[in-house]
Amino acid sequence: MSVDARGPAVESPVGEITGLRGRVVGPQDDDYDTLRLVWNGLVDKRPALIVRCAGVADVVSAVRFGREQGLPIAVRGGGHNVAGRGVCDGGLVIDLSEMDGIRVDPERGTVRAEGGVTIGALDHETQAFGLAVPMGVVTATGIAGLTLGGGLGWVRRRHGLSCDNLISADVVTADGRLVTADDERHPDLLWALRGGGGNFGVVTSFEFRAHPVGPQVYLAFVVHAAADAEAALRHYRGWAASAPEEISSFAILWHAPEIDEIPVEHHHTPIALYVAVHCGEPDRAEQDLEPLRAFGSPVADLSGPMGYLDAQAFFDADYPAHEMRYYWKSHFLRELPDEAIATMVELNERTPSPHSTLDLWQLGGAFARPGPGDTAFGDRSAPFLLGIECNWEHETDDAACIAWGREVFRELQSYSTGAQYVNFPGFYEDDAGMVRDAFGPNLDRLREIKRRYDPTNLFRLNHNIALDR
Ligand SMILES: Cc1cc2nc3c(=O)[nH]c(=O)nc-3n(C[C@H](O)[C@H](O)[C@H](O)COP(=O)(O)OP(=O)(O)OC[C@H]3O[C@@H](n4cnc5c(N)ncnc54)[C@H](O)[C@@H]3O)c2cc1C
Repeated sequence: MSVDARGPAVESPVGEITGLRGRVVGPQDDDYDTLRLVWNGLVDKRPALIVRCAGVADVVSAVRFGREQGLPIAVRGGGHNVAGRGVCDGGLVIDLSEMDGIRVDPERGTVRAEGGVTIGALDHETQAFGLAVPMGVVTATGIAGLTLGGGLGWVRRRHGLSCDNLISADVVTADGRLVTADDERHPDLLWALRGGGGNFGVVTSFEFRAHPVGPQVYLAFVVHAAADAEAALRHYRGWAASAPEEISSFAILWHAPEIDEIPVEHHHTPIALYVAVHCGEPDRAEQDLEPLRAFGSPVADLSGPMGYLDAQAFFDADYPAHEMRYYWKSHFLRELPDEAIATMVELNERTPSPHSTLDLWQLGGAFARPGPGDTAFGDRSAPFLLGIECNWEHETDDAACIAWGREVFRELQSYSTGAQYVNFPGFYEDDAGMVRDAFGPNLDRLREIKRRYDPTNLFRLNHNIALDR
């Protein structure tokens, strides 16, 4: 029986899905082992089928099929969920990778993008009109999972989170209906999509507000040696509190990469790094970043003007797909006292992998303006997000690297607001706790909305808003 205009029928162990425009891929197909891969090389899951959706009709068919067959359903946007929730064992993957259409409306300053779009593609289209939608800092990341969990990037303090800029979404709900969520239609659903994740259905397209950004920005990149790391972080803490909103920055503890601009004696040694993007007036950028760049005796300073597209891709090479292994956790920090800084520096010095980093994301500005109940995302009071990135190469280092990440998490827990960022979820070890702490008082409202759009918790491979806990 033909299930597909482009290929033969696929018989899965659980049934047969018919009438699609896109392909159905199963274990018997040559490209199954490629198409089941996600970004994190640690993830090795074998779904019963992968539906490569060609459009909304395919998503509707796939959702209905998955529900009728009682299959676990994974929804894949860009495949960059660090715990690999875009794929599952033995279930159905609703893969949106081929749904990558983008339409910019420069007059209205809006852009509509399908569920499989990546940040790089969105930037490419919007920058043609001098616009940008706030997204993350690595261009291969999917806009879908990123937006649904929040979305922090280089213009977060000027223009907010990705989800703050979401103005409407088309969603296929658990009963296979297509609904549009905007300020007039299903406004409760739009509220929930702004941080509440993939709990409410499959988002087939997103509409965003875009902002004038670039084409030129200024990127600061300043490296301090290990001996100065604590002082550099203390200076950063003070500077970050009053920096202009046009700047979104990180202080990063890392090990120096082997690049020509960093003196060879520092290669592979622990470092503290300032990285900042100024998206405002080019003339002001240098002046605004001066207090950061002038501090201490940096061992390298690579700062300068840069195209926005290049700034967006600045970290791309550090996050290769499939070949490396990753485990990421986080804390929103309530404060950053000297003891916390000393602990971070010490933990960085004894990381089992030189690719791992501890990232302080500067918050405040536009990120902090929405009230805790304005979006599902919740509380915005933290001055910093601590990203704990365990990045390593070899399977033999799995246990040590994951243990280090968990140790960092534990050691810095007392400085946390209690909330973690749902897009840096570890392995969802304590999913219920993470959801409770991330959403706080918003959780009851999210449960109510979940009950309306997904009463049987069909969409549960995410930071799950379960109804029974
Ligand atoms: C290299 C890298 C860099 C990152 N940088 C940043 C950053 O700068 N800022 C930041 O905030 N985060 C960042 N993240 C985290 C990122 O936001 C999450 O990993 C996010 O889940 C990625 O989205 P995706 O669509 O690629 O993921 P996928 O793995 O495809 O999906 C993740 C989850 O999102 C849900 N989902 C995906 N698509 C849909 C859809 N269309 N409808 C409904 N639910 C859907 C599903 O629940 C799925 O399990 C980064 C991650 C990586 C790997």
